[in-house]
Amino acid sequence: MKSSDLFSRAKQLMPGGVSSPVRAIRPYPFYVERAAGSRLMTVDGMEFIDCCLGYGPLILGHAHPDVRDAIVRQVEKGWLYGTPTPLEIDLAARIVDDHPAVGMVRFVSSGSEATMAAIRAARGYTGKQDIVKVEGGFHGAHDAVLVKAGSGATTLGVPDSAGVLADVVAHTRQVPYNDPEALETLLAGNEDVAAFIVEPIMGNIGPVLPEDGYLADIREITAAHDTLLIFDEVITGYRVGIGGAQVRYGVKPDLATFGKIIGGGLPIGAFGGRRDIMELVAPSGPVYQAGTFSGNPASLAAGYATLCWLHTHPEVYQHLDEAARAIEEATVDAQRGSFVRTGSLFKHFFREAPPRNYRDVQECDREAFSRFWKAMLDAGVFLPPSQFETNFLSTAHSRSDIEKIADAYRSCLFA
Ligand code: PMP
Repeated sequence: MKSSDLFSRAKQLMPGGVSSPVRAIRPYPFYVERAAGSRLMTVDGMEFIDCCLGYGPLILGHAHPDVRDAIVRQVEKGWLYGTPTPLEIDLAARIVDDHPAVGMVRFVSSGSEATMAAIRAARGYTGKQDIVKVEGGFHGAHDAVLVKAGSGATTLGVPDSAGVLADVVAHTRQVPYNDPEALETLLAGNEDVAAFIVEPIMGNIGPVLPEDGYLADIREITAAHDTLLIFDEVITGYRVGIGGAQVRYGVKPDLATFGKIIGGGLPIGAFGGRRDIMELVAPSGPVYQAGTFSGNPASLAAGYATLCWLHTHPEVYQHLDEAARAIEEATVDAQRGSFVRTGSLFKHFFREAPPRNYRDVQECDREAFSRFWKAMLDAGVFLPPSQFETNFLSTAHSRSDIEKIADAYRSCLFA
């Protein structure tokens, strides 16, 4: 069956025809039959260079042999035990060793679960009720954070979801990104803030980069007000380097959340941080958290193989950065817009100056983005279908893939 027919059928069976909102590309999404390396192959016989990469987890590309072998080896031994496994100790040790801010870690099954639990732990530790998030920050699809949420929520015009109790979000405050004064003012006037949760680099409307000193400033401000600082490193973890943004910018949050890359493409999440906070998590403490699939062996195996590969090839971060730079250079003469990149995260914004925050990003010309996105697809490059999602590169993108992406940018920006 072709993609258009599949989508017609899917719409009868699933809301909007999809399992996650941004996938509902108009007039219909392409359906993938298989993927390998940097490529997606569709049921219609098309092949695309993939710069979406499952929205970030696949830093080694699709079906990387080491990761595939690790999954297959694990699956042959069974894939769910409901007991502890040696593998979770290996992955936990890896994450703890790589992150100075993480003394202990708990595995969950998604980034959403990770941020939900980290917020609960912060409230349990501080005894305070409110949280602060950044406008346009995305921390998953649970109630406390679905306020001015980025990602698909903004793309589809529902940054504030229906069905979320006003009483719940009354405890979620917002500040603009890159504005330490706004945080200081808010915390000075509210002593009941348990945590400030922030993507250190905003990935779900961007990348929008932290200005010099911003992350150090928010560290200082939160500490001065006895508010915990949570870095949501679901995208940045192992993406901007080993140790994520906390190592790259040398700022130590109290708690951090992870997902995506640490599961090598299978479902995972994790939250971790200071031991005195993490020891409050059940069963060692009263902050309840649990999950049937938490620490499932297949995800652990895929994640551990991915992190081992990154550790034995640390030069890849430099290579990925150079690849993104080559694409940027192709857009230097673009007549309008701004190109933002850091490491292998990049985006062309249809706005003159690079955005500093959510308000800036909303000024982008969405129509122009849609035309550009479609032209890129026609040129054989699949980008995340939103002005508000970052693009990704993987180690599987060859030099010739990068040239093709750069050529496509050149022709589609001028189209
Ligand atoms: N936090 C951030 C920064 C994310 O980018 C995402 C997902 N894009 C999440 C949390 C939620 O993760 P998941 O989709 O695995 O629930």
